[in-house]
Amino acid sequence: MSQASAERVLISADQIRKRIDEMAASIVADYPEGPLYLVSVLKGAFIFVADLARALKRSGVRIEFMGISSYGKAKTSSGQVKVTRDLDVNIEGQNVLIVEDIVDSGITLSYLTRLLQQRHPKTLEIATLLDKPERRIKPVKIKYAGFQIPDEFVVGYGLDYAEDYRNLSDIRVLTGAD
Ligand code: 5GP
Repeated sequence: MSQASAERVLISADQIRKRIDEMAASIVADYPEGPLYLVSVLKGAFIFVADLARALKRSGVRIEFMGISSYGKAKTSSGQVKVTRDLDVNIEGQNVLIVEDIVDSGITLSYLTRLLQQRHPKTLEIATLLDKPERRIKPVKIKYAGFQIPDEFVVGYGLDYAEDYRNLSDIRVLTGAD
């Protein structure tokens, strides 16, 4: 049995809250009016999108979800990306902001941006809470990044390990997992 634990706090709940307010202010400045579609990737980004959406002090914010196959129980990417739940709205001609929890290899987001671009949104940009630039394999253009973090496996604030730890209100480093 693995002895995984998540005791070391990397980013506190307070730091997250403050940074999300800053990100939201930039987003509102860039998209002052009209519908803005937040396309959030399940499950990891669900807490981030909930907080980010509430920090966006404007009307016309739409929240949509997509399911993309993720790491499952393992800590490294299989390199395989699959849509498990698609959008049920038409994003043609709309301002779309993909809301992600973390960009690691960039494989998921480079796939997703290519897919959504084919639907001809007016604009398509990326907001991620966490960015692990050292691990990048595929280049991804991130417009709004909350925190750059080192190459460590983190959990909490929506991010899991084997479906655990999503409910932590801060971001912690996972140790002792396989
Ligand atoms: P990428 O395709 O960029 O390698 O990976 C993106 C996805 O991998 C994220 O949405 C997330 O589900 C998962 N991931 C990458 N790094 C971490 C990490 O440090 N912790 C957790 N819990 N998931 C991660």
